[in-house]
This record gives sequence, structure tokens and C-alpha cells, in this order.
Amino acid sequence: MTSEPSNGQCEGSGEAQDRLPPDDIARRLRLALDVSKIGVFDADLETGRVKRDAVLMQIFGYGDEAHEDEGDVLERTLHPEDRDRTWVTIDAGIASGEPFYNAFRIIRPDGEVRYIRSRSVTFSDSKGHRRLLGANWDATDDVMLQQNLEQARALAESRYTALESAWREIERRALQDQLTGLSNRHALLLHLDKLFSEPAPHIHPRPCPRPCPRHAVLQIDLSRFKEINDTLGHQAGDAAILCVAGRLEALREEKECLARIGGNEFALVLDAGDRSENATHLATKIVQSLEQPIPCEGHLFRCGVSVGLAWTSDDVDGPQALINAATALSAAKARKGGGTVLFTEEFDGRNRAIRQTADDILRGIDEDAFIPFYQLQFDAKTLDVCGAEALARWRHPLQGILTPDRFLKIAEDIDVMWRIDRSLAEKACADFLRWRNNGSGVDRLSINVSVRRLIDPHLISAFPTKDLPKGTFVFEMLESIFLDVLDDDMAKAIDRIRKAGIAIEIDDFGTGHASVLGLTTLQPKRLKIDRALIAPMTRGDRHRRLIAAIIEMGHALEIEIIAEGVETTAQVQLLQDMGCDVLQGFALARPMDAEAVEAFLRARKRARRPSL
Ligand code: C2E
Ligand code: CA
Ligand code: CA
Repeated sequence: MTSEPSNGQCEGSGEAQDRLPPDDIARRLRLALDVSKIGVFDADLETGRVKRDAVLMQIFGYGDEAHEDEGDVLERTLHPEDRDRTWVTIDAGIASGEPFYNAFRIIRPDGEVRYIRSRSVTFSDSKGHRRLLGANWDATDDVMLQQNLEQARALAESRYTALESAWREIERRALQDQLTGLSNRHALLLHLDKLFSEPAPHIHPRPCPRPCPRHAVLQIDLSRFKEINDTLGHQAGDAAILCVAGRLEALREEKECLARIGGNEFALVLDAGDRSENATHLATKIVQSLEQPIPCEGHLFRCGVSVGLAWTSDDVDGPQALINAATALSAAKARKGGGTVLFTEEFDGRNRAIRQTADDILRGIDEDAFIPFYQLQFDAKTLDVCGAEALARWRHPLQGILTPDRFLKIAEDIDVMWRIDRSLAEKACADFLRWRNNGSGVDRLSINVSVRRLIDPHLISAFPTKDLPKGTFVFEMLESIFLDVLDDDMAKAIDRIRKAGIAIEIDDFGTGHASVLGLTTLQPKRLKIDRALIAPMTRGDRHRRLIAAIIEMGHALEIEIIAEGVETTAQVQLLQDMGCDVLQGFALARPMDAEAVEAFLRARKRARRPSL
């Protein structure tokens, strides 16, 4: 208690309490203890008797009366697991003479377990007895809350760990080829990206300082793999791929990235330094290793190996080097016998030109620069116009009208040919419907359809087939897209086309792999004999006999025959004599734009005679 004079401003200050009578202080203390639910005990260490107040008795579960006992209430109520530890703490606290803390569990008479906290201190009373005075309070709710929080934290932690390992697994799978366990294309691209940036601690990768280390990138392709799948089945094909992956793995060094980037295509990125500088030597070793027979289902299988090789440099980053290696690989594959081809400047120039054309094509699409030209088709008997084939043309801003050989392949490679085809189909339909309504004699419109477009479910919606006779629209398809057995997607596509009343024609017949069996399955309306077979027919009997045989076979299968690339009146005459049904070629009409077609048709109407 303070004995300093007070300034008297503070209600309830120490000075105010000083002036209270001792009974008041005791009452207030009692009230405070009751409110705080703290129980008090007072143990005479000489006699062993312990007084416990009503709150303490309540906490211990023995009713709500103060109690005096021989000290056995605690002993009786202590949780057996905590008993020894609790007495040790009490004994030590008494021995020290200092205030001490204790924490233990009790089991109440009704069986309920409670968590008790206690603070006690020893002192000597006026009789000279040593006594232990202490306060106990029930901390069960706090302990439970703490335990629940702990459990929740442990649960959250274990969920996080599970999530983290699932995420790592997903990441691993996303970067791995499932069959071989090698990196996949995505992982390869990440690896290549990193080549041109160097990791810095704790921050994002930064651009690589020049000069950049030179890395060699190899792309490896195995030919004849399809044969294993076709003849021995996919399981055998998989086993062969695993064997190849193992051989390549043996040639890889620790930090290098080996990836499977296609069914039978692999890529290897070499370390900078000696490994990359001697990459041609390694490429030769790869070819030699993979050319060794591959054991497969009891057979020994040999495949052709092609390798494309390119390097990164200050100006060629990792992803570009991969594209360059692919270009070199295409050249290697095109060479008889495969082997290794290095990417050179010449390729680079060609690549740049292709990229430029691709950009121009995309701009052309945006500017609606692709238009249909039409080549008219003629009934072989009467030489009357009977149809028209729509042919794509590119109205190039600098080079004028360009034919498909200047853009078709690149448009297909960058996957935009379907956009060109779609816009052509719209324009061609509009022109054709106008001609039909004018009674100009153009009764059919033929459209060239690629496989990619054929299986597009929206293809047919571009053609207003509903109110027109069946066969008014014709899809020309290259014979090479049909195999003997139509696969599922193709069969569905063909079905949709037939149901829409669109006729099917086989284009370029005689150059691809169509078989008679394929023809009977597909039952096309017409065959177009390729102009490569028509051109030599006036030169010899053998060629003529081949054409005659095709016409005869077609008719036997109830398929009409169109001759393409008819360039001379002699060819017209011969084909008429052979019973060919339709003629198309420069001898009769060249491909023209819509306006020229209309002028041509008007002129014919005036002359009322075939324009031969
Ligand atoms: P194709 O379907 O065989 O088209 C016939 C090609 O032969 C056309 O070339 C045409 O100009 C040419 N031709 C016609 N008569 C004669 C002739 O008497 N002599 C000679 N030497 N040639 C003749 P074009 O227009 O350059 O088309 C080439 C190929 O491009 C087409 O061959 C076709 O496969 C493809 N193509 C054309 N337009 C499209 C299209 O809109 N979409 C798609 N996917 N492919 C198309
Ligand atoms: Ca065609
Ligand atoms: Ca053709």
C-alpha cells in the first residue's frame, strides 16, 4: 500500500482503497473472486487441513458449499495421468517459498474432465504455521478452444501439404510424356525459354548477357513407325518407342533436356560448350544407335532416322532454334535415306519468306482479299455448260491475282485455309444462285474441300441446300483423303454431306491412293481424272487405254467421269468418243472471276453454239 499523499482526483485509486475498512476490502475481494469464478484454497501445512471456498468446490464438482477437509479432495479428483507431476510441482513450490504456477486436469465425480490452472504461495500465519494459499480457475474452455485451433491448424497444414504434393504431381505430369517419362513439348519450350535468360536469386529470370552461350538443338524423327502400329498393334509401337527413348537417354548428359514432342519425334537440347560444338558428331551417333534393329514382339524392326540440327546464337533464341531444327529435319526427311541436316542461312532466308507470306495471308483474310474464280464444266456430249468449279484466288495488293500454289500450303500450315474456304464458299454461293436464277446453264457448283474442313460440323451450313435439287452443290475431295475403311469422324462427315443432298466427287483421280474398294464404300457421284493422265492421252495408245479403263470402271460402279485439264480439241474429241461425261480444261474455258463468267455466258447465249 502506498503512503504517498494523493492528489485526490482518481476514483477507486489506491489511496481511496487505503481508507476503506478491512471488512470492506475483504467483501470486495470476495465479490471479485466470485465474479471471476476463481476458487480459493487455504491449506495449513502443519495440520494438513485445507479450506476450500464454494467456487472452488463448484469447480471441482462437489456442490456449491465451502468445505474443509484433510487435503484429500485434490488427491481424489486429480487426473491419474497428471497426479505425480502436480504433486512434484506443489512440493517444489512450497520448498521454494516463491509464488508458483500449476496446471493439471481433474476428473469430477460426474466423470467430466476439466483443465485447472492454479497459482499458489506459502506464508507463515500469526500462529507460526506455514500455510499454502492458492487460487484455482477452470481453463477448460480456453484449452478446448486452443485444442480446436491446434487441430484446425494441423488439418489445414496437412491439407496444404496434400494440395502441394498434388500440385507438384500435376506439374510433373504436365511437363512429362506419359509413355516414356521424358519431358514433353511444353517442358522443352520452358527449357528453351530459359536458355536466353539467366536465373537471378529471388527475382525473375533476366535476359542473358551477350554473347549468349551457344546451344545445339536436335530434332529426331523415326520413319516406318506407323508400320509397327499397323502390323503389330499399338502395344508393340509403344514398346518400340520406349526402346528408342532408352537409347536416346543413354546419349544425353545430366542437365540436358530430352523431350518426346510427337508420336515418333524427339528433341534434344545440348549443354553449351563442347557438347554443342560437337553436336554433328553426336547426331551421327544418334543415327547409328537408332538404326540398330529394335526388338519388338519377337521381331527385329529397323527404322529410318532423320535428324535436324540448329544452334542458338545472339540472334536466335531457344524457341527459334527449335523451329530451325524442325526446318532442317524436314529437309533431312525429304532426302532419301534420312541422316542429319544442319540448319543453314539458306533455310533462314526461306523461313523468313514463309513468315512474310504467312503475315500477308493473315492481312489478306482481314482485308477480304481472297475471292473465287470459276472454271466452267461442260457436258461432254453437247458441250453445253453444266457446272462450275470454284477456285481460290488471292487478290494481292502488289502481285495481282495469285493462284493457290502461292498460298495454299502456308495457309494450311498456319491453319487458316478453313477461313479462306469459308469466305470463298459464301461468295461463290451468292454468285452461283444469281446465275441459276438467270437460267445461265450453270446448274452445279463444285467446291474443293480439305479433310480438315470436311470434318467441321459447320461446313454444310454455308450452303443453302434446302430449296435446290439434290446434287446442286458438289464437294470435291482429294482421293488421298479416303482410306479403304472410313474412320468414324470421316464416316459421320460423309453422312452429313449426303443427308444435305450434296454430291461427292473424287478429285485428282489416278494420282493418290484411292482403291476400288474405297470407291464402292464411298460411292461418289463422280470421279475427276487428273490432268496428269489426260495430258499424254493423245500421245499414245497405252495412255488412251488407261483413260478408257477408268471411264469403264466408273460407269460399272455408276460413277460419272469428269476429265480435267482438257487442253486441246483432239483431247475433247477423244474423250467424247470414250464416253466421258463432263469436260473441264483450258480448251473450253479458263478459270475466270464472276464478272468474266457472266460475260462468257452472255456471249455463248448470243452465239448459241459451243465456243470451240
Ligand atoms: P484442282 O482442284 O485440281 O483444280 C484444278 C486446277 O487445274 C486449277 O488450278 C486450274 O486452274 C487448273 N487447270 C484447269 N484446267 C487446266 C488445263 O487445261 N491445263 C492446266 N495446266 N491446268 C488447268 P488452281 O486454281 O491453281 O488450283 C490448284 C489446286 O488448288 C486445285 O486443284 C485445288 O486442289 C486447290 N484449290 C483451289 N481452290 C481451292 C479452294 O478454294 N479450297 C481448297 N481447299 N483448295 C483449293
Ligand atoms: Ca478440284
Ligand atoms: Ca483436280
